[in-house]
Amino acid sequence: MLLRIFLASLVSVAATNGQQEPGTPTTNGLPSPSSSSSSSSSSSSSSSSSSPSPSPSPSSSPPPLLLVSFDGFRADYLQRYHMPNLELLYRGGVLVEELTNVFTTKTFPNHYSLVTGLYAESHGMMASKMYDAETNKTFSLMDDKDPFWWNEAEPLWVRALDSNYSTAAAMWPGSDVAIRNRTATHFLPYNSSVTFAERLGNISAWLKGSEQDGGVIFAALYWEEPDRSGHMFGPDNTTAMAKALKEVDDNVGLLVSELRRAGLWGHINVVVTSDHGMTQCSAQRLIRLDDCLDPHNYTLVDLAPVTALIPTQDPEKVFSLLDKCHPHMTAYQKKALPERLHYRNNRRVQPIILIADEGWLIIQQGDKLPTLGNHGYDNTLPSMHAFLAASGPGFRQGYRTAGMKSVDVYPLMCHLLGVPPAPNNGSLAQARCILSGEGCVDVALVAGVVVGVLLLLTAVTCLFGLMKPRRARGPVPFQRLQLEEEDDDDDEPLLG
Ligand SMILES: [Zn+2]
Repeated sequence: MLLRIFLASLVSVAATNGQQEPGTPTTNGLPSPSSSSSSSSSSSSSSSSSSPSPSPSPSSSPPPLLLVSFDGFRADYLQRYHMPNLELLYRGGVLVEELTNVFTTKTFPNHYSLVTGLYAESHGMMASKMYDAETNKTFSLMDDKDPFWWNEAEPLWVRALDSNYSTAAAMWPGSDVAIRNRTATHFLPYNSSVTFAERLGNISAWLKGSEQDGGVIFAALYWEEPDRSGHMFGPDNTTAMAKALKEVDDNVGLLVSELRRAGLWGHINVVVTSDHGMTQCSAQRLIRLDDCLDPHNYTLVDLAPVTALIPTQDPEKVFSLLDKCHPHMTAYQKKALPERLHYRNNRRVQPIILIADEGWLIIQQGDKLPTLGNHGYDNTLPSMHAFLAASGPGFRQGYRTAGMKSVDVYPLMCHLLGVPPAPNNGSLAQARCILSGEGCVDVALVAGVVVGVLLLLTAVTCLFGLMKPRRARGPVPFQRLQLEEEDDDDDEPLLG
């Protein structure tokens, strides 16, 4: 009975959740457009394209949303390093300690997943280097502007244009590409020498808007650290990483103070997150392809830590050689890639994929270690996970949760903006827990309570089971003696 009452109350909570509609746009603290902005707007590098319809009036708009990515921010940096500004941000908002990202755990696939809610096989941005056999096109981080590679999905800064919103993106991967013929209303073409303060200055000005042009509803901001230091020094170099993370934290402080100065802080929703983590590599953990296979037998598309190659000789033979090449490398034929990776159903996946174990790197030959730190590995590895911190009127205050999926960030952002999400792989079920004024079922808590109740019921049942024979102890000897009497007539009854 206890269990039945408990389960009935659970069903009732779940049903209540299911009835909650995405947030209706509310009157909020959208900043009044100002004709002048003291932000450092780097007009030389800012551009704008696509002329969406005028933005809706501020009174009908939800709070704007700023999405910030600090590239390569491994989840456990938060526990290992002191970051007072970031801590202040999530203490007043929410912290998701581990954000499970998508495979491959590389920069472009994961940044595109954050703004589309799709796994790599669905948005088509599979890795840092790609090849498309049908068009004979190649993609690399140095040559990434062809919309062909991005057009399988539509990032939020494009999607929100259809809701008559203006949007902005500062150096977020893909933000300077005309995806399905459109860019954000404002964007900065990628230039690694543009400082964080300059990027932030533009974002702040675009969020604030002007008298003629209302502020943008969604802005995305990208920064290269701590990824750059993680590659260069390795995440185990605590001196170098402490320095890099101090700079990142200073930038978080700069972000908050700039938003305060612009009158935006507290009136906009801010999400600070990352694309992936980082793991330590070593010259003692190299896997050389040429030790296993003649280089003339394959064409290399991408290398480490996930290698994509096309056999030029008998594919089965090439696969068989690679399959037994190294104990710390797993070879997959495309058709056999595990479903959980969501990395099979796209023509940009090459016939053979090799995945190195954590901390191992695949090279073709030699002894040269490419980088001291790397990422790209299996997305179930905690070292590959990022974090998420958020603050603003849409979020709970002082709330902390253990985990979430990065594909859930997109439906969460669409919900906050009242933008209809495109079909995606994410869900609001878990993400809802971090929103203010939302009820949610904490799956871990519910599972714990269910297990606890079941254990209690089992204990009570056992206790009754133990007590019953004790109560019945009187008749037992009698019954036994009766039986024994039947079995052996020579036994004398013990009871008189
Ligand atoms: Zn990255």
